[in-house]
Amino acid sequence: MLHYIQVSSRSRNELIDITSRVEDLLRISGVSSGICHLYCPHTTAGITVNEGADPDVRSDISRFLETLVPVDASFAHREGNSDAHVKSTLVGASETLIIENGRLLLGTWQAVYFCEFDGPRSRKVAVKIIPDS
Ligand code: ZN
Repeated sequence: MLHYIQVSSRSRNELIDITSRVEDLLRISGVSSGICHLYCPHTTAGITVNEGADPDVRSDISRFLETLVPVDASFAHREGNSDAHVKSTLVGASETLIIENGRLLLGTWQAVYFCEFDGPRSRKVAVKIIPDS
């Protein structure tokens, strides 16, 4: 089962919590046990899992990546978004999560984030739900 989650970012750099939207798809699918693969089909965005309880964590990650990979560093790529390409590679384009009892098997404090590095834009995340055989 392949689904897509539409994401609208509002800032150039932003982590957006998509956990409840993934779990909505799990509920609709009726799958109670299996694997959920999330894939970001964009070259300037990514997917990660990290703390969802304190919103300072997501802004810290976003700000630290901006410091680590400055937008005005010396890049050859002429689109002006090389920092976003590098951040996308650092974060990665996918996550594979376990489905148990119809929910994502996440730690108490974990959330799933879509990571925008070249927003604001309309984006999508591919969600493949694979039930146990
Ligand atoms: Zn580019």
